[in-house]
Amino acid sequence: MMSAEHKFQEKNDNILKSYFADMHIHIGRDLYNHPVKITAAKNLTLTNVLRESSRRKGINLIGVIDSQAPAVQQEIKNLIKEGEAYELEDGGIRFEHVILLLGSEIEVYDDECQGPLHVLCYFPTLAKIEIFSEWLTTRMKNITLSSQRYYGTAKELQHKVKELAGIFIPAHVFTPFKSLYGKGVKSSLKEILDPDLIDGVELGLSSDTEMADQIEELHDYTFVSNSDAHSLPKIAREYQEILMKEPSFKEFYYALHQVEGRKIQRNFGMNPQLGKYHTTVCVDCLEALSPRDDKCTSCGSKKIVKGVFDRIKELANAQEEIVSRPPYIYQVPLEYLPKLGPKTFEKLISSFQTEMNIIHHVPHDELIEVVSEKLADYIIRNREGRMSIKAGGGGKYGKIENVD
Ligand SMILES: [Zn+2]
Ligand SMILES: [Zn+2]
Repeated sequence: MMSAEHKFQEKNDNILKSYFADMHIHIGRDLYNHPVKITAAKNLTLTNVLRESSRRKGINLIGVIDSQAPAVQQEIKNLIKEGEAYELEDGGIRFEHVILLLGSEIEVYDDECQGPLHVLCYFPTLAKIEIFSEWLTTRMKNITLSSQRYYGTAKELQHKVKELAGIFIPAHVFTPFKSLYGKGVKSSLKEILDPDLIDGVELGLSSDTEMADQIEELHDYTFVSNSDAHSLPKIAREYQEILMKEPSFKEFYYALHQVEGRKIQRNFGMNPQLGKYHTTVCVDCLEALSPRDDKCTSCGSKKIVKGVFDRIKELANAQEEIVSRPPYIYQVPLEYLPKLGPKTFEKLISSFQTEMNIIHHVPHDELIEVVSEKLADYIIRNREGRMSIKAGGGGKYGKIENVD
């Protein structure tokens, strides 16, 4: 006989579906054409992010992490007033085919930590993030700009986020500057954070699941992989597939905590070797170095950036068998593929609608009606995580190798 619990599980499984999500996207300019993330593209406005995600990327859930800026909130309110967007009961804002979660990336630098680190905070409603923004004005010089320095302790921030029913995720945790393990802590996140008030951990472009699981304390958390996009084309250069009822704030929270079958099914990201900080290198001449070198063996410079790979090796302490994790699939956005210029990209989009559709679904025989056999091969190879890579380091991205 089937237990009641089992029956419920089965019924529940039937209504869970897969959705693509990218939870770390910046804003370049607000509706007054003022900068938000100064280094981001001028056309990276909230409205353009929503349109690009819904119409061309085919992403179902996005996090805009400059939403603490009052002008960004105003732009959302305008869309709601014009009937182009509306707030969901379970949190989040629908625009066409995409659901927007309101987030904020914050730079923490409290007395207990070694250096600045970035964290991501998400809130269910406009009302809640407005309260958060109000609170931030007492702890931040300028809330209209992206990723600003917050004056207070990280734990205080965690408590505020939880008080407002928010989600708290340390960002790109291994990057050499501005991250938890890169600069923040010496060995354990408990030095700075309350481990019970963390909802997930963002891997960042230079690491993947297997690398991160070398650190035992991370076994307790769900890993997210996001783009940190500073321009429209970079949206969804990393993302995840989430099994949930529908995209919303509540369902995203459930997926992070694996409530009743919701979960992250697959992480998609660039091979860590493509990231800017994979290997340890000399900043001046980019010579690859050993993490033990205190000056460059080629030019003698003392400016060395320790790569993520070497930093993780230093921290590695996992004893137990690797925890069960969703697969991490190495992929690049279509624009990174060799032989894929802007014209071909437009041709693909007009034939097959969205980038997610092209990356995941269009079969080879349909691809070759639109693009060359070689490019169709690259697309399939990318779908399966089989591209060859030349490693990056010291702020220089790795490269896809032209394989013939
Ligand atoms: Zn950041
Ligand atoms: Zn960021």
